[in-house]
Amino acid sequence: MSVPCRIPFLDLGREMAAVRAGVDAAMARVLDRGHLLLGPELAAFEEELAAWCGGGRAVGVASGMDAIDLLLRAHGIGPGDDVLVPANTCLPTWLGVSACGARPVGVDPDPATRNLAEDGARSAWTARTRAVMGVHLYGLPCDVGGLGRLCRERGVPFLVDAAQSVGACWEGSRVAAFGDGAALSFYPTKNLGALGDAGAVWTPDDAVAAQVRLLRNYGMRNHAEPVLAGRNSRLEEIHAAVLRVKLPHLEAWTARRETLAGRYQEALGDIPGVRLPRPLHGSRAAWHLYVVEVPGRDAVAWAMGARGVGTAVHYPVPPPRSPVYRGGCAAGAFPVADRLADEVLSLPLNPFLRDDEAAAVVEAFRAAVEVAEGRGS
Ligand SMILES: *Cc1c(COP(=O)(O)O)cnc(C)c1O
Repeated sequence: MSVPCRIPFLDLGREMAAVRAGVDAAMARVLDRGHLLLGPELAAFEEELAAWCGGGRAVGVASGMDAIDLLLRAHGIGPGDDVLVPANTCLPTWLGVSACGARPVGVDPDPATRNLAEDGARSAWTARTRAVMGVHLYGLPCDVGGLGRLCRERGVPFLVDAAQSVGACWEGSRVAAFGDGAALSFYPTKNLGALGDAGAVWTPDDAVAAQVRLLRNYGMRNHAEPVLAGRNSRLEEIHAAVLRVKLPHLEAWTARRETLAGRYQEALGDIPGVRLPRPLHGSRAAWHLYVVEVPGRDAVAWAMGARGVGTAVHYPVPPPRSPVYRGGCAAGAFPVADRLADEVLSLPLNPFLRDDEAAAVVEAFRAAVEVAEGRGS
């Protein structure tokens, strides 16, 4: 008796429909011009993104994972260096660190914020620690104040994987443009999504920006003069043109996410055993995902599915438990990340979710928790 899913976890078609006319015009402009890489759309998008960030430089690259890798390389980080990362992020945060040759060192997150925090970073610090890569997981800012202070004290760059937090703020500043540099992703499902893979590095430092520009284009200056061993990691014109159409909508989309998250916070706060997201005081979350912690998560997800509501799990396997990194990590080293992997459940939340759908999600979740606990039918 399978019920067709009435509320999918995410339906990108609605977002596409909302901006379709602008997207069609932007794509036509690129095709008519015939300039497909490193052209005027990318240059304009980089300017517009940096302005939206409130300053600094933005450099478009091919993906969020590349942005992590190239940001670290531009800071001179590589083989022999350790980079502190949260143990409960998605795999590409760790892979981006590995890609530059450094070693990702997992830190158990703060259970209240589910993010890397100052205390954890302090205790994981070693003589080889050369950078901290915080993650604003699910769009909720990590403690940029505490982590930034620690990094300044130790003289290493404080960098962030801001793939999920485009639109988030801390004390009024964009967290995608905070500290010594950030990696942004425009993967289609992100708050600002391209038509395929795309990403950007944000940096306050002109020299770092120049280095990323070199690295993304084989390490060649002015398209021809080889300077260093770079990569092919360019943000294509077609994506830049589409991102320019979407960027002006981001504020309204973020506000809609906030409204929906506020409804969930109010409607779900009283369920015993269920933990809701808790944005840090002084921060504005981008609500990329709305993630609850619920014991018996798989049964709850199944029961929601049976009621026609799609859910997702971000993420079922912490990177240090993945086959890629398992070698160097003791059992019991990440109790918080391990528990989160078992209990996190992402409910549908996106700017195009209607009010009646959000109400149905709440109803389905409450019923599913009862069923999973064996109290319902
Ligand atoms: C999406 C994501 C990435 C990777 O971005 P891509 O553009 O898919 O390479 C890295 N870190 C986090 C936290 C992400 O959510």
